[in-house]
Amino acid sequence: MRRLLAQAILPYARLRTWAQPGLRILMYHRVATLPHYDQLTVSPARFARQMERLACEYRVVSLADGLRAIHQSQLRQPLVAVTFDDGYRDNLTEALPILRRYAVPATIFVTTRFCDQAESHPRYGPSPQRLHLNWDEVGVLAATPGITIGSHTLHHPYLPTLPEAQAREEISQSRTIIENRIGQTVAFFCYPSGDLGPRELRLVHESGYAAAVSVAPGVNYRSTDPMKLRRTEITDRDDDEAFALKIAGAFDPIHCLLHAKRTWNFARGYGRHGAQTSARP
Ligand SMILES: [Zn+2]
Repeated sequence: MRRLLAQAILPYARLRTWAQPGLRILMYHRVATLPHYDQLTVSPARFARQMERLACEYRVVSLADGLRAIHQSQLRQPLVAVTFDDGYRDNLTEALPILRRYAVPATIFVTTRFCDQAESHPRYGPSPQRLHLNWDEVGVLAATPGITIGSHTLHHPYLPTLPEAQAREEISQSRTIIENRIGQTVAFFCYPSGDLGPRELRLVHESGYAAAVSVAPGVNYRSTDPMKLRRTEITDRDDDEAFALKIAGAFDPIHCLLHAKRTWNFARGYGRHGAQTSARP
């Protein structure tokens, strides 16, 4: 049903992109071959086809270059940036060779306690194989041309539920820890589960980040708040046609409606519980 709607919207989405090109930021999590379906995992074969398509049909940029471009000049063509959340080990073993093959830059948002191997994302639970990047591997990625490391907090909490001092620590201290580990400035932050309010925006700004990404769908323009950048989530459901529709913006109106509904549920007080039990990324 959603795909039929997106197909109907496609001509209008193309027209809008032509009239007002912007920066589309893709959100990935894992690139792996799993024995079972997992919404947040894209197979290496499918990921390779997606990166090939981006490299052939779009101008793919780093987050920093994309943000610079939308603020410096009138864009003549749409830009696409690639991001990964949570710092999974397969970002190095599976995704990196494909990114390098197609010269696609990417930003990887790591959670420091996951890198310590002291905790892991609750969605996946205990695993016989190491799930998250360790600090040596984060260092390898940070030293790879085209790869940027960003912060995804210390513990991956729902920030709006925390007292202010604790939320500040998650946002600020994670930046310091990652910078000390990789010897580079960390300019970008990623809100766990995309949950944020005015306080989180302020804390991210005060902590010295240049920009932060959310899970709100859509394209980013000069007018977009850099502390609340929009992203397009790519999931295991996205076959070649769905990926093309997403990149073209044909799913944006549908996803904006769904996101508004989720935000409204949060505002009514139901969302907090729902988010904690659904283990969103
Ligand atoms: Zn996450």
